[in-house]
Amino acid sequence: MDNYIVSARKYRPSTFRSVVGQKSLTTTLKNAIESNKLAHAYLFCGPRGVGKTSCARIFAKTINCLSPTADGEACNECESCKAFNEQRSYNIHELDAASNNSVDDIRALIDQVRIPPPIGKYKVFIIDEVHMLSSAAFNAFLKTLEEPPHHALFILATTEKHKVLPTILSRCQIYDFSRISIADMVEHLQYVASCEGVNAEPEALNVIAQKADGGMRDALSIFDQVVSFTSGNITYQAVIDNLNVLDYEYYFRLTDAMLSGNVRSALLILNDILSKGFDGQNIITGLAAHFRDLLVCRDEATLVLFEVGASIRERYKEMAKRCADQFLFKAIELANSCDLNYRVSRNKRLLLELTLIQLCQLINAGQPADDKKKGLIEPIASNSSIQSAPPLQQPVLMPAGTKNVQTARPQVMTTNMPPSATVIPQTTDAAPPKRPVRPPQFGTSLKDIGVERSQVQKSTVQTSNISQEIVNPFTQEDLSRCWDAYAASIDKKVYLKNTMINCKPVLQDNYFFEVGVHNPGQQDELSNGCIDLLSYLRTQLKNTRIQMRVRIIESNEKHLAYTSTEKYEHLLNINPVLGRLKEEFNLSLD
Ligand SMILES: [Zn+2]
Repeated sequence: MDNYIVSARKYRPSTFRSVVGQKSLTTTLKNAIESNKLAHAYLFCGPRGVGKTSCARIFAKTINCLSPTADGEACNECESCKAFNEQRSYNIHELDAASNNSVDDIRALIDQVRIPPPIGKYKVFIIDEVHMLSSAAFNAFLKTLEEPPHHALFILATTEKHKVLPTILSRCQIYDFSRISIADMVEHLQYVASCEGVNAEPEALNVIAQKADGGMRDALSIFDQVVSFTSGNITYQAVIDNLNVLDYEYYFRLTDAMLSGNVRSALLILNDILSKGFDGQNIITGLAAHFRDLLVCRDEATLVLFEVGASIRERYKEMAKRCADQFLFKAIELANSCDLNYRVSRNKRLLLELTLIQLCQLINAGQPADDKKKGLIEPIASNSSIQSAPPLQQPVLMPAGTKNVQTARPQVMTTNMPPSATVIPQTTDAAPPKRPVRPPQFGTSLKDIGVERSQVQKSTVQTSNISQEIVNPFTQEDLSRCWDAYAASIDKKVYLKNTMINCKPVLQDNYFFEVGVHNPGQQDELSNGCIDLLSYLRTQLKNTRIQMRVRIIESNEKHLAYTSTEKYEHLLNINPVLGRLKEEFNLSLD
């Protein structure tokens, strides 16, 4: 155990050639050394663990090597190289600016800069995380960086180039380190595994590389971890179990469910994943990445963007053939918006499920309804609930009214068409209305659909067959006669009957009549019964243009019944049968 060295240190590159995944960059550095065109300040930037500090050390060693090899590498045998490798060289100074970012730290470093190297040509100063230097330290450093002694060479490293002052940037040669590709990492891990005598499945190393997200140091550290809990036999299954990585298999199964529009299957797979303890956000980002991988698989040109191991490549290609571009575009968009909304969502599981439902519907969206498989939730757009509303309720436009009536009552008497009035416009029963029909509940109450309507069902059916307009003139007497006749026929609608007896129609222009009522209850009653009433009147008077307006007449002399009890007593005076009704049905006034 004493001799155990973590792989990230043990396999830290010691030559440019052994640096993983930065070939063009190391070649440029080597060429600069060979041609002896060294700048006095370099800035290495890039994500963590991609080899910035390693390259800086190799660079420092190589420019000090007393007998470099033919291909521009350090010999690792001369006194200078040995000193470097044993970490006792005076030619290299490292400062971690994350923890030493004060002016004093920089002054101490500047003092070192003045002293020439005891051996070799260059003294190299590596400042890690240079963006962490305080602005005072930056300013103290600037002068030295601008005019350093010949033997001094600075290598600044940072993960956040945008935080480095422009005055510093302009004095450096900038090298951008890229994320290490999955393939490069897998190759290096394979090399480390073989050196360590560890048996590793390529797919397992691929998962490690993906988990490391482009950083070799992280990949090696994960590798060590996996080696220790698999006892040197790294399998794909062991890796996904131990690293809490979601198996590709789930994404393939989910995509299968989406391609067949099977919502239920998708929800069950999601449940399966969640029950294994996976975080919802990881699932959705993984799914988005999966769609993205499928997309880049569809074309040879974009296949270079595909960083999945060789063994599973064919499977991706096979599935990609089954997915249309449009499906993948939309799927990526849906997954991405779910990802964005995930953090703020209060019901995260529902959000995931909703996204899966939407994804399952993508494929079926363009197909005819009878092709849709069982389990699909129909898109709202194709639902024809409005058209399938009961035809009886179509012809009438009716504001809901009651509350408006009460608030707007004072205007009623003065305006010809007050807002409080309930207007029942004339319609030809069979023809669809010209304006879009409001939802039926605005115009009719449940009462109309119930038993009471059967009283005048016949006349309704008759009038509904009239397709052409009939405009037969009639008089106030004709109207009153029909009105009373209708009232006499509706024995079961006691309240409506009494309202019609107490409130009489007054004929106005253009076959329009008005009914003055005393309270909102009466207004409701007439409004609710207007379909049958108007049908009756139009048939009897042979005029399809008849319209009714109901409005509340406010009378100063007359006490209006507002409370339920007042209304009841008032009505009881008009019709004593009401008392029996109340008793028989055990009704209350609340
Ligand atoms: Zn050497």
